[in-house]
Amino acid sequence: MTYLRDALTARVGEFIQLRRDIHRHPELAFEEHRTAELVASRLEAWGYSVHRGLGGTGVVGTLKRGNSQRRLGLRADMDALPIQETTGVEWASSKPGLMHACGHDGHTAMLLAAAQTLAHDTTWDGTLHLIFQPAEEGGGGAVRMMQDGLFDLFPCDAVFAMHNMPGVPAGHFVFRDGAAMASSDYVTIQVHGRGGHGAMPHRSADPLVAAASIVMALQTVVSRNVDPLHTAVVTVGAMHSGQANNVIPALATLELSVRALDADVRQLLEHRIKALVAAQAESFGVRAEVTWKPGYCVLVNALNETNFARQVAVNMVGAERVTLQGPALTGSEDFAFMLEKMPGSYLLIGNGDGDSAGACMVHNPGYDFNDDNIEIGARYWVNLTKAFFEH
Ligand SMILES: [Zn+2]
Ligand SMILES: [Zn+2]
Repeated sequence: MTYLRDALTARVGEFIQLRRDIHRHPELAFEEHRTAELVASRLEAWGYSVHRGLGGTGVVGTLKRGNSQRRLGLRADMDALPIQETTGVEWASSKPGLMHACGHDGHTAMLLAAAQTLAHDTTWDGTLHLIFQPAEEGGGGAVRMMQDGLFDLFPCDAVFAMHNMPGVPAGHFVFRDGAAMASSDYVTIQVHGRGGHGAMPHRSADPLVAAASIVMALQTVVSRNVDPLHTAVVTVGAMHSGQANNVIPALATLELSVRALDADVRQLLEHRIKALVAAQAESFGVRAEVTWKPGYCVLVNALNETNFARQVAVNMVGAERVTLQGPALTGSEDFAFMLEKMPGSYLLIGNGDGDSAGACMVHNPGYDFNDDNIEIGARYWVNLTKAFFEH
């Protein structure tokens, strides 16, 4: 154990540089060619057998030792976001309008640092699959990898993933069993009316007024239909209609983000929103079309695997730096689809709190992954892997 600590500590600078290199060269969903090749070539150099191009740009590295039948999957995500970076750091994005604003550069670097340490460590016994997925940010890269046979080609007994969390002290770990992150559906409502002269509204069917009323009526779905003890979000994030002050338009469009923390509430939201929109449209003499695009499902962490992951963290950093049951989040995450098929757990590592740089929230132009976490995150993966195979 002492040897491992020294080896990982000695090499961590290399992975901080690697993280900054990935940060400088961000790539959007399914375009992570440079990042994937960087991951694949490193894994190969350390003796992993590497599968490229799973789910587009996904990479799986496998290392098998000894005779144990136990199989473990660890996942990191690789994609960046279409945001113009404002951090001003030396390793800032070299691509205008594109940056690693969610720390996936750090997740990749942490898992690679663990991969190298585990490759040099001959004391464990089992099959380790390191899953580097594309397109976590809405593109469903996890699903694409699964459609390409991820768990048929690389069967696992459990899967784990780690995400950084601004607002939590750096190096602290946060766990939650049960529903931990929300489902997220993308809903478009098109209100078709009859356009006309703004001076003669009685000769039109105004979709803009109907859409405005629908926006207000939608506020009652969460407050009046969902059990107050359950979680739901209905956000109207976009509303488009009309071009001139004296013209009644023929069309109004609304775009919604709809979220829930359990499948029943998710269904109720769909049922109520569709019914409410239809009734509202009828009352205004217009026609509404609802397009429901299912996004990520609710992320549910398995109890046993979460307990195991908690224990690894407590043993490593002490109970005072571990939150055993953190709050559920209304954000969503496509690791949820892997957890639908496989027991496992999704955990958080604090990126920094208070006035520290790491406290800046993800998806913000000023966000940067906290490099102090690379060593602790990698060590956590190493410890979890070794503990898993000792089970
Ligand atoms: Zn994100
Ligand atoms: Zn993320």
